[in-house]
Amino acid sequence: MNTHDTYAISFRGLSVGIHNFQWIIDEKFFEENDYSGITGADISVELVLEKTERHMKLDFDVFGELIIPCDRCLAPLSVEIDTQHSLIIKESDDDEIDDDDLLIISRSEYQLLIAPWIREMILLSLPMKNVHDDGDCDAEMIKKLEEMSDSGETISFEQ
Ligand SMILES: [Zn+2]
Repeated sequence: MNTHDTYAISFRGLSVGIHNFQWIIDEKFFEENDYSGITGADISVELVLEKTERHMKLDFDVFGELIIPCDRCLAPLSVEIDTQHSLIIKESDDDEIDDDDLLIISRSEYQLLIAPWIREMILLSLPMKNVHDDGDCDAEMIKKLEEMSDSGETISFEQ
């Protein structure tokens, strides 16, 4: 079974009403999606999908922990993930509609591929800078990085 099967919703078969989905994401999810910087993940993705006659409304709740390299010392750093996102999906042959939270799909589609959305939601929720608290960085690693620096300049600790 590959990621796309696990994270696909065949929406044509869903009845009108509320449907709940949940996935647990680990680091393999990012390996399969070509994002190698992430060495650990334990993230819960909860989706409430409301289907009506006119549209589908998707409410994602994504929370958990991600392990990524610290921007300063490269040692593993735990980052808390807690993000929500809503999306409306409508069927239309009118592609003039332009709205970030509105997705238009054609009448021939039958599956929602969730994996790319999950990946994007998690990565977009990361802060611009991911570093350990002051003093918690790997001091030896920083020393090595400084030595490796070709120019001989020390690495700036400025935010
Ligand atoms: Zn660090």
